[in-house]
Amino acid sequence: MEYVKLNNGVEMPMLGFGVYQIPAEDTKRCVLEAVSVGYRSIDTAQAYANEAEVGEAVRICGIPREELFLTTKIWISNGGYDKARASIDESLRRLKTDYIDLMLIHQPFNDYYGTYRAMEEACRSGKIRAIGVSNFMPDRFIDIAGFVETVPAVNQLEVHVFQQQKKAREILGKYGTRIMAWSPLAQGKNNLFTNEDLTAVGEKYGKTAAQVNLRFLIQSGVAVIPKSTHIERMEENFDLFDFTLTDDEMKKLEALDLGHSQFIDHYAPEVAEMFVNAGKAHMV
Ligand code: NAD
Repeated sequence: MEYVKLNNGVEMPMLGFGVYQIPAEDTKRCVLEAVSVGYRSIDTAQAYANEAEVGEAVRICGIPREELFLTTKIWISNGGYDKARASIDESLRRLKTDYIDLMLIHQPFNDYYGTYRAMEEACRSGKIRAIGVSNFMPDRFIDIAGFVETVPAVNQLEVHVFQQQKKAREILGKYGTRIMAWSPLAQGKNNLFTNEDLTAVGEKYGKTAAQVNLRFLIQSGVAVIPKSTHIERMEENFDLFDFTLTDDEMKKLEALDLGHSQFIDHYAPEVAEMFVNAGKAHMV
C-alpha cells in the first residue's frame, strides 16, 4: 500500500474502498471482504445510511483500529455548527469508534462555515484526525480555504481518466490539499471498462482497463476509493502496486480527459436546487 502525508501530517492510504450505494444489509459483508483483500481505508457518509454497518465490520474484522483509515461525510441537512457538532457524535456512535480519520463536508451547501467550525473543534478535541471537503469546485474551495483556520486536508472530487480535474488539481496544489477521487472508475460510464487505450496499455502489464485507470490516478497523486460488492473485483481493484506506467503512457492517458463530469454539473442552478431540496430532508 502507498500512503500520502496530508497537510497536517496524518498518513492516508492512496487506495481505499467506497461503500456508496451498498445497501445496509450487504455493507458488513462487503467491508469484511475488502479488509480481507487488504483494504485499510473505507469511505462512507452520513447520507449513505450504512455507517453503522461499516462500524460493525470494523469492530469485528480483527485489524487494529489504528491500522484502519475511516472517512465519513457530513450531509447538507446536518449543516451549521450545532447540527454538525451533534452529527459528528452520531457518526462516531454509528461507526463504533473513538475517532474518525477523515471527516468531509459532503456538498458545498447550507451553512458550511458553521459545519467546518464544528469539524475544526472536533479535530482539536481528538474526535477527528483530519478534515476536508467534497465537491468544492475551485471557486467554492478558494472561498472556504481562505477564511478558515485549518486549510482542508482533502477535497474529494469526481476524478477518473475522462474527468481529470486539471484546473482543480492546480488550485488545490497551491493549498497543499490532496484530492481523493470519487467514482474513480466513472461507474463504468463512457465504456471505461472496455476503453481501447486503457486496454492496450493494460495488455503490456497483464492488467485490465479498470486497473490501468486506477493506477493512472494514483501515479498522478490522486487517492482512489473504488467500490464493488464482488470480492474478485475488490481484488482486481486492489492489485495496483506491481506495475508503473511510463511517462509516455501517462501522457497518452492524460489525453483521454474530456474535461467535464460524467455525472453532475455543480455549477448548474437545477443541481443546486436538487441539493438544497435534499438538504431540507431531516437527518440526524
Ligand atoms: P466507482 O467509480 O467506484 O464504480 C463502481 C462500480 O463499477 C461498481 O458498482 C461496479 O458496477 C463497477 N466495478 C467496480 N470495479 C470493477 C471492475 N474491476 N471491473 C468492472 N466493473 C467494476 O463508483 P462509485 O461507487 O460511485 O465511487 C466510489 C466511491 O466514491 C463511492 O463508493 C463513495 O465512497 C465515493 N463517492 C463519493 C461521492 C461524493 O459526493 N463525495 C460521490 C460518489 C461516490
